[in-house]
Amino acid sequence: MASDLRLPTDKIVRPDKDRFLNEENPFEAMMSRFDRAAELLDLEPGLYKVLRHSEKEITISVPVLMDNGEVEVFTGYRVLYNTSRGPAKGGIRFDLNVTLDEVKALAAWMTWKCAVVNLPFGGSKGGVICDPLKMSVSELERLTRRYTAGIINTLGPDSDVPAPDVNTNERVMAWVMDTYSMHMRHTVTAVVTGKPVEMGGSLGRREATGRGVMFVTREALRHLGIAMNGATVAVQGFGNVGSIAADLLSKQGCKIVAISDRTGGYYNKGGIDIPKAIEYVRQHRSLEGFKGGDNITNDDLLVLPVDVLVPAALENVITSKNAGKVQAKIIAEGANGPTTAGADNILDEKGIFVIPDILANAGGVTVSYFEWVQDRGGYFWSEETVNNRLEEIMTRSFTDVLGLSKQHKVNMRTAAYMLSISRVATVHRLRGIYA
Ligand code: GLU
Repeated sequence: MASDLRLPTDKIVRPDKDRFLNEENPFEAMMSRFDRAAELLDLEPGLYKVLRHSEKEITISVPVLMDNGEVEVFTGYRVLYNTSRGPAKGGIRFDLNVTLDEVKALAAWMTWKCAVVNLPFGGSKGGVICDPLKMSVSELERLTRRYTAGIINTLGPDSDVPAPDVNTNERVMAWVMDTYSMHMRHTVTAVVTGKPVEMGGSLGRREATGRGVMFVTREALRHLGIAMNGATVAVQGFGNVGSIAADLLSKQGCKIVAISDRTGGYYNKGGIDIPKAIEYVRQHRSLEGFKGGDNITNDDLLVLPVDVLVPAALENVITSKNAGKVQAKIIAEGANGPTTAGADNILDEKGIFVIPDILANAGGVTVSYFEWVQDRGGYFWSEETVNNRLEEIMTRSFTDVLGLSKQHKVNMRTAAYMLSISRVATVHRLRGIYA
């Protein structure tokens, strides 16, 4: 790092390693990794303080007229963690488990994720506490529009650009875009990404996160000298990320021996027919009743003897309690925060090669960036161009992180945090602290 650019300081902060860590709290999980990387980078105290805080946290009430005529009031959040490198970028999730701490962690992860793959974006995240599976389409539309109206002052192509996340999709993004555009009095496509292709979405965006997982898994297998053809894979989560990752990995010759969703897991030693499983979910909305494998639990799936484990569901599934039993050689984190900080050391001791979330699932936001560029330019790319540019960014970022991990003798997660924090820190130093 260019030391002449450092902000004036007298000493370097040493994080308090003994402070209480709640393993299940995603913000603590993010912070403990941040602390370690900040220490290795000798981050000066001023910047350390700046980067431990989110820039803006919004909490709103979201009243919705339900189909039965009653009014429900939901709670919604939008957190802008850091915008030093560009507009805030990050998804919106609808889930019963949403908390402000979770949204803060996810917004910070977006900041590091965008920096790891070197996109000119900061990081943000939004969430509404609700159970979308129990809501009708029109209730979801009213919820989305009222939530959008509630955070409209932060939104904009130059300030904060949402995208899909857990339980939100292209349709939800279309409502966000329409609500914002109605208030602006003109159509603003670049205010969200992950939109339908017909209204300014990018080709390849829907598959981008899963495709990115495939690219980095391919690089990791190559690095460890494991042939992709015949490599065994278990995928937890069969939503947008898990199902596409499974499909693309199987098309590259991998054998997907296990898949799962919230209804349970399915194991088939000979390999699961992924297109069949995708078709099954399209018809039945979940894998429940899928006959392509033996029934196992989600916990069983995580400890199968496979080459690659892809946790592509929610946070905190690999913890200090089960990490010792994980047998995979590679973990490719399709989800955000699937591994707790307490599990990191155990996985390290076992020599498991972890491709951290902020690298492994960065394909989604990378094509979101392409979508934003295409919307602003009003000129759209072919799917092949999108996929080739995604491949270039994912493989280059993997190589960058691997290089740093070798140089500093740290694991891939710490190396990814070091790379991203140093990129964000450099911009802060150049911009200075506005007074
Ligand atoms: N929700 C996705 C993520 O966590 C995509 C975010 C985006 O494209 O802005 O990376």
